[in-house]
Amino acid sequence: MKRLNIFIYLLLLALLTGCARSERQSAEKTVFAMDTVMELKAYGSGADAALTLAAEEIRRLDAALSRDGADSEIAALNRTGASHLSPDAANIIAKALEISRLTDGAFDITIAPVMDEWGFFTKDYRVPKNAELSKALKKVGSENVSLENDTVYLKNGAQIDLGGIAKGYLSGGIAEIFKANGVRSGIISLGGNVYAIGEKPNGEQWRVAIQNPNGDGHVGSLCVSDAAVITSGGYQRFFERDSKIYHHIIDPKTGFPAENGLKSVTIICRDSAAADALSTALYVMGTEKAITYLEAHRDIEAVLVASDDSIYITRGITDTWQSEYDYKIIEGH
Ligand code: AMP
Ligand code: MG
Repeated sequence: MKRLNIFIYLLLLALLTGCARSERQSAEKTVFAMDTVMELKAYGSGADAALTLAAEEIRRLDAALSRDGADSEIAALNRTGASHLSPDAANIIAKALEISRLTDGAFDITIAPVMDEWGFFTKDYRVPKNAELSKALKKVGSENVSLENDTVYLKNGAQIDLGGIAKGYLSGGIAEIFKANGVRSGIISLGGNVYAIGEKPNGEQWRVAIQNPNGDGHVGSLCVSDAAVITSGGYQRFFERDSKIYHHIIDPKTGFPAENGLKSVTIICRDSAAADALSTALYVMGTEKAITYLEAHRDIEAVLVASDDSIYITRGITDTWQSEYDYKIIEGH
């Protein structure tokens, strides 16, 4: 009996130290895709395998969802106007159409022809003439996209651009791969768009800082676990002409870069594709409409930085919010 006890004790010890060792294991990987430096960190015994599979997933989705490239499903769809798509491409378009409806068209993946007029696709930047913009805008509108059993049809000359949602969708896919490989703790950072998996190996929540849109440094930070923290801001991609800044988030109503009172919008929620699309949409909506949206949708949290540098945060993140700046709280209804 005594021997059996010692055996069980030794077995438990081996299991416990084994667990402790595997939690300490970690692996990191940096991948460049979607014009973005992507940094992945995973803890646990499955970390290496998870990162290898995640890098393959990044390459696969980058190739499938970009607007050019021989393997791009989106390029093929834009060329032909009708395509049977993979489940990923169909899912992301379905999600984009849903967010478009929810945001009254502020988020609109048919913005592609307008992006092209400004040269954001080729990086050959220019300020289009009003007539050129009006012509491009005639093709814009989510009603020009229909999805029937994984087949997407475009009408009215519509073209799609998934730049406002693809990274969020991708980080959700990577999070699934991490979890399927036993990674219970990790960080996925796609150019500052963060997805925090579980908690830190020491059991604390992850603290994620939000960039100051005015330059270096941060406006504040908050704690999360199993959630995406995704920021949209005009400061992230822009060009300058005649001392004027033109950025990459376009108001589908005007065809011009959105100037509706915000410098950045950060959305915090579990659904990272929704977080990505909503950060773009609320940026387009502007301060007042974004606040009204957040008051009505309490399942998402947010940080807004307005053009006058005032900061608004939703009630749900006030507990862990740390900042050297004053802020106002957005209450739910
Ligand atoms: P994000 O950085 O997530 O805010 O996305 C900006 C990118 O989304 C741009 O580079 C475009 O590819 C695309 N985009 C720009 N304006 C819109 C819009 N109003 N709705 C949907 N996508 C947009
Ligand atoms: Mg976005």
